[in-house]
Amino acid sequence: MGEKEKVLIIGSGPAGYTAAIYAARAGLKPVLYTGGQPGGQLTTTNDVENFPGYSDGINGPEMMIDLQKQAERFGTRISYGLVTSVDFSGYPLKVTVDEKDEVMAESVVIATGATAKYLGMPSEEKFANKGVSACAVCDGYFYRGKEVAVVGAGDSAAEESTYLSKLCSKVHLIVRREEMRASKIMQQRVKSTPNIEIHWNTEADEVLGDDSGVTGVRILNNKTGEKKVLPVKGFFLAIGHKPNTDIFKDYLDMDDTGYIKVLSGTTKTNVEGVFAVGDAADKVYRQAITAAGTGCMGALDAEKFLAAKEAEVLSVNS
Ligand code: NDP
Repeated sequence: MGEKEKVLIIGSGPAGYTAAIYAARAGLKPVLYTGGQPGGQLTTTNDVENFPGYSDGINGPEMMIDLQKQAERFGTRISYGLVTSVDFSGYPLKVTVDEKDEVMAESVVIATGATAKYLGMPSEEKFANKGVSACAVCDGYFYRGKEVAVVGAGDSAAEESTYLSKLCSKVHLIVRREEMRASKIMQQRVKSTPNIEIHWNTEADEVLGDDSGVTGVRILNNKTGEKKVLPVKGFFLAIGHKPNTDIFKDYLDMDDTGYIKVLSGTTKTNVEGVFAVGDAADKVYRQAITAAGTGCMGALDAEKFLAAKEAEVLSVNS
């Protein structure tokens, strides 16, 4: 067993690296475990144009390298290990890396993010970043003036369709049943938007395209068996996200989907010294900038927690 870490950060998206920058600048010498997808979800996007400070936009993977360098510049140690399990039943907190190395930590910042769900068609993968996206706010701008399709029927699908309807010439909303599960008010907004067409009882059958990217989507009416092609340039998935929080479920309070519950206005979980930041604890905003913001909060909460612990020890010893 190695030394006890003061701040151990799990995850290497904007939330994890921002937590690392703040913790490192506070002199806490954090260690950050990148996980299986170093850089997180942004490494699967092309241009990021909505992160403040990059006036000409930036390529997602490049931005993550910049964040890593910034975290390292102040002394963060980056480890390419995967945290495979934790034991938060005692203190210090215990984290196991790559199923074998145990690391003890005085505080843990969880920034493991979430993964967008896809339908699982090979053509979706083939055109990932070439017309297929799971984030309308990130990528919608690239399809302004064009026709796009959105799959889903929850609040995300309603919100993303409405967002895209302001940029795109037409939005086809592909709903697999004959009703939507989105809240009434959001459904109403969708139904009253003239350039959104809802295709009920319909499933995406295949994403079509060529070297230029997506050129259409073949849809199937699951009641009539009828197939047709919609001439879209963008194909957006809005069928939910899965937070990457399975390894914490024995210890942390979560909602039904697995988003970690935090004390409102903070990043504190139900376990002392464990803080949750970014998409692992946020099912509503899910943006790089909000993840970075809560990453900062996580580091400040951890710093305050450690200072209080230290003061406690000093008062006992004095
Ligand atoms: P949800 O789980 O609520 O909805 C997922 C939708 O995707 C469902 O309508 C489901 O269809 C559909 N779906 C799932 N799998 C498939 C598939 N294989 N093929 C076709 N359709 C599929 O996820 P959301 O991301 O919409 O929302 C997650 C949570 O976040 C919710 O609690 C929501 O209220 C909240 N949210 C709130 C917002 C706000 O308040 N502004 C904005 C966005 C999200 P079916 O209905 O048939 O099961």
